[in-house]
Amino acid sequence: MSGRPFLQIPGPTNVPERILRAMARPVIDHRGPEFAALTKEILPGMRQVFRTAHGAIVIYPASGTGAWEAALVNVVRPGERVLSFDNGHFSSQFAQTARDLGIEVEEVPLRWGQDVPPELVEEQLRADADHRIRAVLIVQNETSTGVTANVPAIRRAIDAAGHDALLIVDTVSALASIDFRFDEWGVDVALCGSQKGLMLPPGLGILCVGDRARQVAERGGAPRHFFDWRPVIRDNAAGFFPYTPATLLLFGLHEALTMLFEEGFDEVLARHQRLADAVRVAVAAWRLQPLGERPERLSNSLTAVVMPEGISSNDLIRRARERFDLSLGVGLGRINGKVFRIGHLGALNELEVLGTLAGTELALVESGVPIELGSGVAAGQRQFARVEAPLAAV
Ligand code: PLP
Repeated sequence: MSGRPFLQIPGPTNVPERILRAMARPVIDHRGPEFAALTKEILPGMRQVFRTAHGAIVIYPASGTGAWEAALVNVVRPGERVLSFDNGHFSSQFAQTARDLGIEVEEVPLRWGQDVPPELVEEQLRADADHRIRAVLIVQNETSTGVTANVPAIRRAIDAAGHDALLIVDTVSALASIDFRFDEWGVDVALCGSQKGLMLPPGLGILCVGDRARQVAERGGAPRHFFDWRPVIRDNAAGFFPYTPATLLLFGLHEALTMLFEEGFDEVLARHQRLADAVRVAVAAWRLQPLGERPERLSNSLTAVVMPEGISSNDLIRRARERFDLSLGVGLGRINGKVFRIGHLGALNELEVLGTLAGTELALVESGVPIELGSGVAAGQRQFARVEAPLAAV
């Protein structure tokens, strides 16, 4: 198909030309001074992105799943317990990762589309009188449902319960798209991947580790080698890694950070808010429903849309891909066929969102969903237009 493909799944996201060019270069010696200088620029940049002054950044050649495992094995031993909340595919997979590592998981079932109620976090921790729970696992942006967790309220809930469990937050589809504040929110470990808000190809798992988690890791955690963050933090001080790092992805990360700060990090977040608002008004104009239950907790990085009864989202997604080279996200796990997801994170602008909405409308109509062509696009345009007087509905 001619023209550019529309990769509008909620990650991996489109990699900007600038980043591709930054990576299209010879591999350098990862034990030489040029590489050390690169590392020493990336680490403070990533601290700014996580909004932390002292958190340690740990970058692994891995994906988000590797980052889950890294976050767990450094601070939780097999047989120890964690608290998690099942409100989507990724929160449930994070819990499964823990189980597979021999960790006991107290998993609270929620509706997929619900956000984690902070009062439930407090209640669960209060019930844990002998403090067996070592960590609370939270997915900030549940990529399968398009619902965000109120992380600062969850921190307050942990404190209100007087519990010393660590707060581990998955920011895989939130970081650099949705506000996240490691220090201010009292997060102990945050984890991310390269392929979403950071606009890179998949291949990096990135952690931000606070002092308390580092202390726990000194005397606890599981048997570990590759994911042990201590040698990484030690060698990073001189700009190096205890193994061969993903050299070219790190050049890409350096360029991505430059782009984020050139645009202005707050503006990056504000842009994601604008784009998400336009997608949400488009969904409303189609008279379809987001899967997320509470409007104030809908994600700025993706929108999960519920299909009308009797029409499969897999059919819609196939049509969008085959007819228009538009990739939309499938419904994951138990909601397969029932929802589709529009990714609106990473390197993306207003016109690309309108193009995505136009393609989605065409695929919806061709799949037999009774929407009015142009209704979502027009709603999105009205959302974007900067005019004095409110625009009349079309
Ligand atoms: N956590 C969240 C919130 C995700 O969205 C994903 C992947 O989409 C993961 C974890 C797993 O990351 P990966 O697929 O990079 O292993």
